[in-house]
Amino acid sequence: MKLIDGKAIAAEVRSEVKLRAAAFEAASGKKPGLAVVLIGSDPASSVYVRNKINACEEAGIRSFCYRLPEDTAEEEAEELIGRLAASADVHGILVQLPLPAHLKEEKLLAKIPVSKDVDGFSAENIGRLARGERAAVACTPLGVMELLKRSGVDPSGKHAVVIGRSNIVGKPMALLLLNADATVTVCHSRTRGLAAICREADILVSAVGKPAFVTADMVKEGAVVIDVGINRTEGKIVGDVAFGEVAPKASLITPVPGGVGPMTVAMLLRNTMDAAERCL
Ligand code: NAD
Repeated sequence: MKLIDGKAIAAEVRSEVKLRAAAFEAASGKKPGLAVVLIGSDPASSVYVRNKINACEEAGIRSFCYRLPEDTAEEEAEELIGRLAASADVHGILVQLPLPAHLKEEKLLAKIPVSKDVDGFSAENIGRLARGERAAVACTPLGVMELLKRSGVDPSGKHAVVIGRSNIVGKPMALLLLNADATVTVCHSRTRGLAAICREADILVSAVGKPAFVTADMVKEGAVVIDVGINRTEGKIVGDVAFGEVAPKASLITPVPGGVGPMTVAMLLRNTMDAAERCL
């Protein structure tokens, strides 16, 4: 068994972005810019936003952070997105989810121009991904692909099983693996015979959000196991995979923390850089 070191791979990606950001600034006279919009006071969201802002700073990306109160009106939020959409200094726009209940996620996200959709959540970008065209892709599944690539895992011809079908992880994950020529099975809460399907996987990706969900009996000897889950238990962060019993069976496995997590922010920086370079 070998660990996939997400921290080290994310650091590589961030330093590549830093070089590109410096070249962008030399060519255009300004830094690439990312606007982050946080509405409400969800504590986890505040931490994520702070991490993203710090990572931008370190990579030479200018960040514009907007913290709006919980009771922000829809028109006000839309007006802000409209201004950011028109700004030549802003190359990427990220609206931190989840939104307060009175705001409609789909409606607000639809105000972000496709060219600035660095989270890859727009219908247009998801449609392009589904068609196998160039697209901005959701950062977490994109990060998983980068982990596989930099660990020498080529999905082509392999059976990849994705557990989870959310729009931000499971579905784009399955499409990325399909586009990389894997044979893909997507499992979810209504799947029957989950363990037997998982045992067929050469690459098993879990994005469920339940601690110790993936157990050793669900994993084929030599499989690559990617744990996307982030679960807080007894003050500790754990993934979906019962790491202690699964790791000895896996050829490669991501730890939690230090696996997929650090890649999400690294890929956000890379998506922002891609968006900025398209403006050159
Ligand atoms: P979600 O709740 O939207 O989706 C969970 C998925 O798990 C659903 O599609 C559901 O069908 C499936 N599921 C639930 N119970 C199941 C069962 N018993 N059997 C099979 N499938 C089952 O969650 P999400 O937003 O996709 O996130 C999934 C996990 O990944 C969470 O732990 C989240 O915190 C984590 N996450 C991590 C990162 C990161 O940066 N590493 C980013 C996003 C999400």
